[in-house]
Amino acid sequence: MSNYWIYETHTPGYEVRWRITDILHQETTPFQKLEVVETVEFGRALILDGALQISEKDEFIYHEMIAHVPMLSHPHPNRVLIVGGGDGGTLREVARHPELQLVDMVEIDERVVEASKRFFPQVASALNDPRLNLYIADGIEFARGNHGPYDVIIVDSSDPVGPAEPLFTVDFYRNLYNLLDEDGMVVVQSESPLFFADSFKNVYSFLNQVFPLVQVYMAFIPTYVSGPWTFTVGSKKYRADEIAENRSIPSPMKYYNRSIHKAAFALPEFILQMLE
Ligand code: SAM
Repeated sequence: MSNYWIYETHTPGYEVRWRITDILHQETTPFQKLEVVETVEFGRALILDGALQISEKDEFIYHEMIAHVPMLSHPHPNRVLIVGGGDGGTLREVARHPELQLVDMVEIDERVVEASKRFFPQVASALNDPRLNLYIADGIEFARGNHGPYDVIIVDSSDPVGPAEPLFTVDFYRNLYNLLDEDGMVVVQSESPLFFADSFKNVYSFLNQVFPLVQVYMAFIPTYVSGPWTFTVGSKKYRADEIAENRSIPSPMKYYNRSIHKAAFALPEFILQMLE
């Protein structure tokens, strides 16, 4: 077996390593270092600036949970915006809802989209959906523009460093609020509550400054630092922990189901205390 490993450093005291058999692609884009590697345990993986973004083995958990919770708690998710998400995994899940009429996706780095099409065709499979308008642009600038109104906005960003840093600010969430219809909702991937507690608490606090209803849910994603991962919803009207009565769940799913939707909002004590 190969003895090559890649390392992901999370804090000065914590690092994760994956054994790899091949480096399929490496480039420095105008925004970040992009790598595609073949890992022994998790299959093919996309890495941006040293941080693993998706792996073949567990990408379904993140993508099903970031997409279907808002898409099914909203009664009519006809118009959707995805910020980031250039690999296409969130889009693939959003596109499974027959209610979807239009999806705008704004990704800053065209090279992520190209790499996903080439190396992750099963993740990128909806990038040719006729309902998609793909904008290669900064999500911050896009949110200041005259787009929408959207029923659901999904912020599928990388960690709050480099180009994604301004996606974790109250000004950005205010602009997203303005792009939403009067009953719209936004979901933000809000990081690890254990390793990036400040980012998580900031997202919750910032969304609370903008939206009348804010709720947090979790999923367990082995390739993200330590596993437990949070998503935070800001909503103008509908509760995100309830599936809208008129909606049916696309089939098949690998992680998401009716019980998971409800249970994902049950939070451990230490997280509830962080939100006080
Ligand atoms: N699931 C992943 C995770 O949490 O690790 C995130 C996946 S997706 C690959 C994140 C995308 O956000 C990247 O392709 C990155 O280029 C994009 N991105 C970062 N900053 C952005 C910005 N300001 N505007 C639009 N897209 C941005």
